[in-house]
Amino acid sequence: MSHAVVKATEQQMRTIKARYSRSLIEPPPQGALFQAKVDQCTITGYKSGKVLFQGKNAEEEAAKAKGTRQTEKKTKPADVGKHSYAPPKTIAEMNVIGSDETGTGDYFGPITVAACYIQTDEIKNIEALGVRDSKTLTDTRIKTIAPDIVNRCTYSLMTLHNKKYNQLQESGMNQGQMKAMLHQQAINNVHAKLQSEQTEAEAVLIDQFVKPETYFTYLRKSGGLQIPDIPLYFATKAEAMHPAVACASIIARYAFIQEIDQLSVHYGITLPKGAGPPVDKAANEFIRLYGTDTLKSVTKWHFNNTNKALN
Ligand code: MN
Repeated sequence: MSHAVVKATEQQMRTIKARYSRSLIEPPPQGALFQAKVDQCTITGYKSGKVLFQGKNAEEEAAKAKGTRQTEKKTKPADVGKHSYAPPKTIAEMNVIGSDETGTGDYFGPITVAACYIQTDEIKNIEALGVRDSKTLTDTRIKTIAPDIVNRCTYSLMTLHNKKYNQLQESGMNQGQMKAMLHQQAINNVHAKLQSEQTEAEAVLIDQFVKPETYFTYLRKSGGLQIPDIPLYFATKAEAMHPAVACASIIARYAFIQEIDQLSVHYGITLPKGAGPPVDKAANEFIRLYGTDTLKSVTKWHFNNTNKALN
């Protein structure tokens, strides 16, 4: 039987434990912080900061723990440079909170933002559901797979309804600011849920909509939000980098579709997505039936569509 020892800081210990959250043995042996058993390997983390790997797959599992340490080193503030927010090559093998949004370009309906946590041992199951970027999936497909994702994942959904959106917009807040607030709030909610389950993500990956510097400026402008002490990465097309972002995009899209469907049923008009000519037509019809105030309550009022509908 082979064995390996890895030295870990408190933070690394939490991360390693989180990696095995589904295989923990309770209670852990005396003097140990945790013990887990996976295929051909028993992992024991000690209060001394040592993690012991025992069994045929000891070396393999220990290498993963070392990988955790290396990626953490890369993200130390001392290394902060031009590309410090670009995700590491190993991102696909990490336990990640991903976030994405929907509805920002749609005249009707809210903005929805979701953050979702996917750990490495769930990735295969999630991919088997057919998870991809929500933009490449039809509404029907999203309605089919979203409930499964919601059931399997720790997630948070933020919905910014039109009334509040229009208030914020009229008070001078731009969409970027709103999105920054919503993304960070959703991420923080997931982080808090994980903490209550004694788990921690190894990284946060945001589907990038502004430069990272601008994101932080927006957060400060909006009164500031605490950012969890986990490496934070930004990337465009992040759905393709980690299923956590793809799942977040599907959850956000699913919520948006449901909102639009509910509004359509409530008002008896099919409210089209986007901001093109069919939207103008529906807006016109909407005013005729319910008046401009009601139209405002279901739209992003500052869009050009408003002027077209009023004329
Ligand atoms: Mn996006």
